[in-house]
Amino acid sequence: MSTIEKFNEHIMPTYGRFDVVLDSGKKRTAVDENGKKYIDFGSGIGTNSLGFCDNEWAEAVSKQAHSIQHTSNYYYTKVSADFAQTLTESTGYSKIFFGNSGAEANECAIKLARKYSYDKYGKGRHNIITLLNSFHGRTLCTLSATGQDSFHNYFFPFVEGFINTPANDIDALVKALDDNKDTVCAVMFECVQGEGGVIPLDKDFVKAIADECEKRDILTICDEVQTGVGRTGKFLACEHYGIKPDIVTLAKGLAGGIPIGVCMANEKCCDVLSKGMHGSTFGGNPISCAGGNVVLKRVLADGFLDEVAQKGEYIKTELCKINEVDGVDGLGLMLGIRLKTKTAADVCKECLDNGLLVLTAKEKLRLLPPLNITKDEIDKGLSILKNILDE
Ligand SMILES: *Cc1c(COP(=O)(O)O)cnc(C)c1O
Repeated sequence: MSTIEKFNEHIMPTYGRFDVVLDSGKKRTAVDENGKKYIDFGSGIGTNSLGFCDNEWAEAVSKQAHSIQHTSNYYYTKVSADFAQTLTESTGYSKIFFGNSGAEANECAIKLARKYSYDKYGKGRHNIITLLNSFHGRTLCTLSATGQDSFHNYFFPFVEGFINTPANDIDALVKALDDNKDTVCAVMFECVQGEGGVIPLDKDFVKAIADECEKRDILTICDEVQTGVGRTGKFLACEHYGIKPDIVTLAKGLAGGIPIGVCMANEKCCDVLSKGMHGSTFGGNPISCAGGNVVLKRVLADGFLDEVAQKGEYIKTELCKINEVDGVDGLGLMLGIRLKTKTAADVCKECLDNGLLVLTAKEKLRLLPPLNITKDEIDKGLSILKNILDE
């Protein structure tokens, strides 16, 4: 039986997969079971931040697997302590909680915000404002937080306490806060809506979220699961906006392609969740942290983030020269391409046939290349994409 047949027989059909079996990868090139090569403009979905099987990363991960792979959270490990120290010191957050995915990081943020408010104001201030067209994860609670009706089917009842307001509409935000006076504990948002179609929020709107929340002692939660860890050319996308949210969640690219999720909190709320109130069996796993330590070291090295920004600008400029391209949205190496006549899903499939891995987000073609992609690899990928778009 072929790999694809086995998959379809034994694995629940929750994904639309392409008929490709990937077998290995090196740098920014994947190889399928037939030896065909693909330039990677997708990084998984923004997870393989250092490309495929980076030497230093693979070395650290395998070394950790040979020393201690897991301990439970009844004990301490140095590798997780080092990781947490680097992350908090480089971002200015006080403490972190470890999970294994973006959804889990967001679950922690939601619990933390509700508990912060409960401690200070008692019951009833549990609502969280999220934005229309947002995406926060697939667990029941993070689905409920997600501001897209298409996700709110079948699995009733959803979790109560989420109020949606449109992105970039300050009046609507203020109205939502006024209408729900004394019942809101947090506003949660992505600085660049990812799954929603690579849509950066306006600077004024993000500033208004920060100001309104500050006034009312409401926490700000920035979901940086996709935008974080250098993806947009800053370590956190909220740095582009000049705000420092109370809580930031990270996951996708944080450990270079192995599971991790982190919820970071500032001094105001970092001790709200105390012993026994939250947990995760695998949280802070030493192998994930060993991978994460290499990612942090490389992404935080002098000049690395500037290069991410420059590469993003270069790709944008080159793409805008293509006639079929209507425009390019996004920041750094998180890019959404608007097409004039072609359908993103068709182009995505054609790219695959021609040896290039890309993604889509709603009606846009989405690029999330590995952060350390080279100029040469970018040019190779762009020439494949250009040929397809010029057809
Ligand atoms: C991918 C994503 C999530 C969910 O992450 P998982 O690891 O799939 O649980 C949450 N928020 C944003 C912004 C994402 O892009």
